[in-house]
Amino acid sequence: MTGKAAHSKRQLKRYEESIAQDGLRLTRQRKHVYEVLLGRQDHPTAMEVFLRAKPEMESLSLATVYNVLETLSERGLVRKVHLDSGSMRYCANHARHGHFTCTGCGAVLDVPLLPGAELEKLHQLPRGYTVTHQEVALRGLCATCRKKPPLNL
Ligand SMILES: [Zn+2]
Ligand SMILES: [Zn+2]
Repeated sequence: MTGKAAHSKRQLKRYEESIAQDGLRLTRQRKHVYEVLLGRQDHPTAMEVFLRAKPEMESLSLATVYNVLETLSERGLVRKVHLDSGSMRYCANHARHGHFTCTGCGAVLDVPLLPGAELEKLHQLPRGYTVTHQEVALRGLCATCRKKPPLNL
């Protein structure tokens, strides 16, 4: 088994344990949707997850995909990512990271935080405030788009 497959298996196990606490089962549909999400971590939208999962599971509906994604995010197994380019995207990466969106091709890349980096220290919070959620969104050009010559309109 490759490292990636072993990782997916661990993640699936965590999901199974988490929903079992609520008396739910890891159904074939739940498992399949999560596996699709773990398979290619490029921050797909719910529709993209649906389109990737559907060919192997005829009975799957978009509503089910939304439901599974919702339970995954409630359980902290998947992060919802709001990027200003529009639709909600889903991220299954558990390491501390920010998101880099390429304004050329629209790709969304995970960018790890440097070891020891403390985001809390970047901003001056008003007295008595506390941060409970952080989201780093960077925009720019990926290496490929950067090399493309500018359009002459
Ligand atoms: Zn991510
Ligand atoms: Zn790009």
